[in-house]
Amino acid sequence: MAELKPCPFCGGEADCNNSGFMKDGKPMWAVECLTCGVVTELCGTAEEATEAWEKRTEPVQSWTPVAERLPEKRRWCLCYFKYEPESPDVICENFHYGTGGWLSEGSRVTHWMPLPKPPKEQEAGE
Ligand SMILES: [Zn+2]
Repeated sequence: MAELKPCPFCGGEADCNNSGFMKDGKPMWAVECLTCGVVTELCGTAEEATEAWEKRTEPVQSWTPVAERLPEKRRWCLCYFKYEPESPDVICENFHYGTGGWLSEGSRVTHWMPLPKPPKEQEAGE
Protein backbone atom coordinates (compact mmCIF):
# COMPACT_ATOMS: atom_id res chain seq x y z
CA MET A 1 0.00 0.00 0.00
CA ALA A 2 1.17 3.50 -0.80
CA GLU A 3 2.71 5.53 1.97
CA LEU A 4 0.21 7.74 3.81
CA LYS A 5 0.72 11.45 4.21
CA PRO A 6 1.73 12.59 7.69
CA CYS A 7 -0.94 13.79 10.10
CA PRO A 8 -2.17 17.33 9.31
CA PHE A 9 -2.42 18.11 13.02
CA CYS A 10 0.81 16.87 14.52
CA GLY A 11 2.85 15.55 11.59
CA GLY A 12 2.77 12.08 13.08
CA GLU A 13 2.73 8.76 11.26
CA ALA A 14 -0.62 7.60 9.93
CA ASP A 15 -1.92 4.06 9.84
CA CYS A 16 -4.78 2.57 7.84
CA ASN A 17 -6.47 -0.20 9.78
CA ASN A 18 -9.76 -1.83 10.65
CA SER A 19 -9.10 -2.63 14.28
CA GLY A 20 -11.76 -1.39 16.62
CA PHE A 21 -13.83 0.55 14.12
CA MET A 22 -17.43 -0.65 14.08
CA LYS A 23 -20.55 0.74 12.50
CA ASP A 24 -23.89 -1.03 12.58
CA GLY A 25 -22.09 -4.13 13.79
CA LYS A 26 -19.75 -4.24 10.79
CA PRO A 27 -16.00 -3.68 10.97
CA MET A 28 -14.98 -0.45 9.24
CA TRP A 29 -11.73 0.96 7.92
CA ALA A 30 -10.21 4.27 8.88
CA VAL A 31 -6.86 6.02 8.82
CA GLU A 32 -5.67 7.22 12.20
CA CYS A 33 -2.69 9.18 13.42
CA LEU A 34 -0.53 7.03 15.69
CA THR A 35 0.61 10.10 17.62
CA CYS A 36 -2.45 12.24 18.33
CA GLY A 37 -5.23 9.78 17.53
CA VAL A 38 -7.08 11.87 14.98
CA VAL A 39 -9.06 9.61 12.69
CA THR A 40 -10.85 9.83 9.34
CA GLU A 41 -14.48 9.03 8.84
CA LEU A 42 -15.21 5.31 8.94
CA CYS A 43 -15.12 3.71 5.50
CA GLY A 44 -16.12 0.37 4.04
CA THR A 45 -12.71 -0.36 2.51
CA ALA A 46 -9.09 0.48 3.14
CA GLU A 47 -8.95 2.27 -0.21
CA GLU A 48 -11.79 4.60 0.75
CA ALA A 49 -10.20 5.35 4.10
CA THR A 50 -6.86 6.10 2.44
CA GLU A 51 -8.58 8.38 -0.04
CA ALA A 52 -10.40 10.20 2.78
CA TRP A 53 -7.07 10.77 4.53
CA GLU A 54 -5.13 11.83 1.44
CA LYS A 55 -7.67 14.16 -0.10
CA ARG A 56 -7.97 16.22 3.05
CA THR A 57 -6.19 19.46 2.28
CA GLU A 58 -7.54 21.42 5.22
CA PRO A 59 -7.35 19.86 8.65
CA VAL A 60 -10.91 19.14 9.65
CA GLN A 61 -11.65 18.40 13.23
CA SER A 62 -14.91 16.78 14.03
CA TRP A 63 -16.59 15.46 17.12
CA THR A 64 -16.53 11.74 17.76
CA PRO A 65 -19.44 10.39 19.81
CA VAL A 66 -18.16 8.51 22.85
CA ALA A 67 -20.63 5.76 22.00
CA GLU A 68 -18.84 5.24 18.70
CA ARG A 69 -15.23 5.48 19.74
CA LEU A 70 -13.19 6.58 22.73
CA PRO A 71 -9.82 8.32 22.60
CA GLU A 72 -6.68 6.44 23.51
CA LYS A 73 -5.73 6.01 27.14
CA ARG A 74 -4.07 8.83 29.02
CA ARG A 75 -4.76 11.55 26.51
CA TRP A 76 -6.01 15.12 26.78
CA CYS A 77 -8.97 15.80 24.52
CA LEU A 78 -11.50 18.46 23.85
CA CYS A 79 -14.78 17.22 25.27
CA TYR A 80 -18.37 18.19 24.74
CA PHE A 81 -20.42 18.05 27.92
CA LYS A 82 -24.17 17.71 27.82
CA TYR A 83 -25.84 19.26 30.81
CA GLU A 84 -29.45 19.63 31.83
CA PRO A 85 -31.84 21.16 29.31
CA GLU A 86 -31.85 24.48 31.13
CA SER A 87 -28.06 24.89 31.28
CA PRO A 88 -25.84 25.39 28.26
CA ASP A 89 -23.57 22.65 26.99
CA VAL A 90 -19.89 23.05 27.67
CA ILE A 91 -16.78 22.44 25.59
CA CYS A 92 -13.75 21.83 27.74
CA GLU A 93 -10.39 20.14 27.86
CA ASN A 94 -10.57 16.80 29.63
CA PHE A 95 -8.26 13.90 30.35
CA HIS A 96 -9.16 10.36 29.31
CA TYR A 97 -7.72 7.75 31.69
CA GLY A 98 -8.90 4.80 29.63
CA THR A 99 -10.54 2.24 31.87
CA GLY A 100 -10.79 4.84 34.63
CA GLY A 101 -12.95 7.06 32.49
CA TRP A 102 -12.52 10.81 32.39
CA LEU A 103 -10.86 13.27 34.75
CA SER A 104 -14.07 15.22 35.19
CA GLU A 105 -17.78 14.82 34.55
CA GLY A 106 -17.29 11.57 32.66
CA SER A 107 -20.97 10.76 32.65
CA ARG A 108 -21.69 14.02 30.85
CA VAL A 109 -19.14 13.66 28.06
CA THR A 110 -21.02 12.97 24.84
CA HIS A 111 -18.35 13.76 22.22
CA TRP A 112 -14.60 14.32 22.00
CA MET A 113 -11.94 15.40 19.53
CA PRO A 114 -8.16 15.68 19.63
CA LEU A 115 -6.88 18.96 21.01
CA PRO A 116 -6.17 21.55 18.33
CA LYS A 117 -2.65 22.79 17.82
CA PRO A 118 -1.68 25.77 19.96
CA PRO A 119 -1.56 29.10 18.12
CA LYS A 120 1.69 29.98 16.43
CA GLU A 121 3.81 32.63 18.11
CA GLN A 122 3.95 35.86 16.18
CA GLU A 123 7.21 36.03 14.25
CA ALA A 124 9.54 38.65 15.73
CA GLY A 125 9.88 41.72 13.51
CA GLU A 126 6.94 40.58 11.36
ZN1 LIG B 1 -1.58 13.48 14.62
